[in-house]
Amino acid sequence: MENLFIFPIISIFPEIKISSSLSNPNVKPINDQLAGISMEIIEQIGFGTINRSFQTNPLPFDTYGAISGVFMLFLWLITYIFCIILLDAELMSQKTAKIIYFVTLIIGGMLLVSIPNTLIPFSEILTAIAEKEDLWYLLPVLAILTILFGSSLLVGRVFCGFACPLGTFQELLSMFNFKSNIKAQRANKYHIELSRQYTVWMRIYYTGFLFVFAIFGINFLNSLALLDPFSGFSVLRPSVTGFVLISFLGLVVVGIASFFIYRPYCRIFCPFGAGSDICSRYAKNNYIRTDDCTDCGLCEQICPTQEASADSNKGECYYCNRCVEICPENAIKLNLEG
Ligand code: SF4
Ligand code: SF4
Repeated sequence: MENLFIFPIISIFPEIKISSSLSNPNVKPINDQLAGISMEIIEQIGFGTINRSFQTNPLPFDTYGAISGVFMLFLWLITYIFCIILLDAELMSQKTAKIIYFVTLIIGGMLLVSIPNTLIPFSEILTAIAEKEDLWYLLPVLAILTILFGSSLLVGRVFCGFACPLGTFQELLSMFNFKSNIKAQRANKYHIELSRQYTVWMRIYYTGFLFVFAIFGINFLNSLALLDPFSGFSVLRPSVTGFVLISFLGLVVVGIASFFIYRPYCRIFCPFGAGSDICSRYAKNNYIRTDDCTDCGLCEQICPTQEASADSNKGECYYCNRCVEICPENAIKLNLEG
């Protein structure tokens, strides 16, 4: 019970499995192993000493999870604030963005084994529904989702654009086939454009399917590792299990698909993406066209998600900056005064 009040924020990270498992013995973590790996890394970077002192004087909650979770929340906040500052100052060039994508991918994806992982709160919710647990078990994850969706309500998909390891993985791969140059993009025969409506509805159907099955006692996110490509990042760690190998296969499939379809996982499958899209539609602070816009239409032609039109709600804008790069009038700005 104590965990509920101590961990409302940290549970987004793999350590939620430990926290939740402590508060609720019925919760079956999908990635206990990943949580273990994550702990090992935290130990390596120096938090182990703190943890050992807690072990000799144990508190009624998971101190390891708390320490590592707070560290990771800190990591996410730094990325988030840093990116908003860069976008606002018009300093988010493609080169800078690439560096951020790589840093997120290497630190969050490979070293910290996919952190933050937005599937975990959903997995918790689906488990609670499938196993008919008391709803108060969901309070921590609902708090987490409220914070993340709140950030989408504020400035749209900055989290998806720069802080999610799976998102940055797809973004980097998409650069091979989704250019910031109309000529190159027209010459490119290997990209598949999916309509915005199609992807949005696919994601809603898929998320709805997960919830309907959970009502009947089946949590597909827990059962099918292929549905959790986030966990595939841990393949580089020692002692890899079959679960991780299957997730890795899912990650490879997402990677290959990213050459042809812009952010396939984000746009078709991610349950967080479904909610974040809806929240971002109401965000007052996102990219707008200034009076310098001459309506040349270049940004609309280059945008991989059909979000560059003047009246678009930007629900699927990942701040990829292709529109900003191509605009000859420098007329696309982040509006923070909405
Ligand atoms: S939509 Fe999902 S997978 Fe894509 S960046 Fe956002 S949280 Fe990550
Ligand atoms: S509107 Fe611009 S920044 Fe947003 S997804 Fe489209 S091209 Fe990328």
